[in-house]
Amino acid sequence: MANPMTAAQLVSALKRWGVTVIEHAGWETNNRNHVGAWGPVHGSMVHHTASSDGMGIVELCYNGRSDLQGPLCTGVIAKNGTVYLVGNGRANHAGSGSTAALNSVIDDDPVPYPPGPDAVDGNARFYGWEAVNLGDGKDPWPEVQLDAIARVQAAVCEYHTWSAQSVIGHLEWTARKIDPRGFAMAHMRARVTKHLTAGPTLMEEDMALTADDIDQFWAADIIPAARPPYNNADYADGNLTWSAKYAERAAVEAARESVARIKEVQAAIAAAEPQPVNIFLTDAQVEAIATNPRLAEAIAEHVAAKLAARLAS
Ligand SMILES: [Zn+2]
Repeated sequence: MANPMTAAQLVSALKRWGVTVIEHAGWETNNRNHVGAWGPVHGSMVHHTASSDGMGIVELCYNGRSDLQGPLCTGVIAKNGTVYLVGNGRANHAGSGSTAALNSVIDDDPVPYPPGPDAVDGNARFYGWEAVNLGDGKDPWPEVQLDAIARVQAAVCEYHTWSAQSVIGHLEWTARKIDPRGFAMAHMRARVTKHLTAGPTLMEEDMALTADDIDQFWAADIIPAARPPYNNADYADGNLTWSAKYAERAAVEAARESVARIKEVQAAIAAAEPQPVNIFLTDAQVEAIATNPRLAEAIAEHVAAKLAARLAS
């Protein structure tokens, strides 16, 4: 039985995970518990506000609109990562959604996508987090905001001993919705898992490169290709930039080829017979020169002339 956190427990959990928390006046008693159930809770739902930043959106999420009474979530996650708590209890954020999605968070299974038909009341079962973003697919998600979203989810999951599978996006709850837009919930769950594994002391800088970032770098086609004389058909075909993955493999192949050639040269040297010094004069000719001073002198003159010519050039 997952009883919802009290206001004090939620604040304490968020602070334990290094989240900057601002409590809207009156948030502890701001809820919709008088019109429907709140709890047992099974998960935490991430939304985008479809708005820009500022206190206007915080007030709107606290009070609601004429057609949708507040609170509209548990907390608003600003672009600078600050979390404004606006609702403690049932809030108008999830609406009706997929039975399969609810069962997945209860059973700690991966949430199926796309969601099934709207059938169950999500406002009773999920904490709700409105992250400030225009939701147009262009408005950026600052790293500090993504980090705050992940920490908030880790705080909720740790308290309830849930895994990151209990964190879903509104778009995974109901086919009516597309939020949050601009990052994948699978990536967010991976971040939450990393936090839950490492504990609350994991610093933001440790999260700077995600596994996906590294994958992206590794596959990016940005490394200048190996140039001739390294022999590769790719370069000749005009493929002048390679991915790091490909470049690394090409370097290994080039090194392997070099080693093979060195081994061939070493084998050729080892196999070569020592060659006798080639003497052009026969014994009889040497004897003739030795016993004929004039001939020896003529050869000496000839050699001297050649040496002089060579020195002069
Ligand atoms: Zn939503």
